[in-house]
Amino acid sequence: MKYFSLWITMLLLGSVVTTVRAAEAVTPEAGVLLTFDDAHISEWVAALPLLQKYGAHATFFVTRFDTLSAERRAGLKTIEAAGHEIGCHGLRHIKAAVHTESKGVEDYLAVEITPALAAMAEAEFTPTSFAYPSSNNNDVTDAALLKSFRHLRTGTGVKEGHRLAQMDVLFTPVAQVADRGLLVGKGIDRIGYPGKEDQLVQLFEAMERAAAKGEILTLYAHGIAETGKHHHIKPETLEKVLAHGKKLGLRFYRFDDMP
Ligand SMILES: [Zn+2]
Repeated sequence: MKYFSLWITMLLLGSVVTTVRAAEAVTPEAGVLLTFDDAHISEWVAALPLLQKYGAHATFFVTRFDTLSAERRAGLKTIEAAGHEIGCHGLRHIKAAVHTESKGVEDYLAVEITPALAAMAEAEFTPTSFAYPSSNNNDVTDAALLKSFRHLRTGTGVKEGHRLAQMDVLFTPVAQVADRGLLVGKGIDRIGYPGKEDQLVQLFEAMERAAAKGEILTLYAHGIAETGKHHHIKPETLEKVLAHGKKLGLRFYRFDDMP
């Protein structure tokens, strides 16, 4: 009887430990971290039905939050209510590494991060991820920001002579995403435009790699528009990306979905 109750106790403890572990780090399935930067809020709101059509979630990294009108802040609430994430992109779009190298990381946090988070908190946004303006980061800024954010995003181009799918840095094996604070993304603005058709082909190849190898691919754009001087992706191109992901069984995640 004594051994039986001990056995039951161990069995129960075992299942509790397993449950806690599972809740701590749910390994995601292969997918895409689709992100949009700056403050193209009306364009983002207009694209919500398109994202919804494919069951896609995205992260919208907002800068200069303190200057946004009530109407634009309401747009961000609409985006959040549709299941997307509002992340932080700094108060003044300052280049983190450049600023830190000349004035120190404490000054950078004081002028760019703390007030951005305060302005967002006042409007009841609590960002858990941060995207570097101009993909300008270094080890010092990464270490400092990972005290306030679970994940950071920077960016890189494709190396000369390489194809996108060969850029290992853009792909995070799903089992490693919990341990990788900094994720490196590829810009997809103006992809598919004349002269950039092959970039769309390369993006599809990269998505195929992520699906085949069980990886997370990180991407970023800015506006979502037919035309304009600002960096943007056309809605029909975005739909091609979403449709290709769906065909491959890739999930489109928010940063917040990452462990
Ligand atoms: Zn930006």
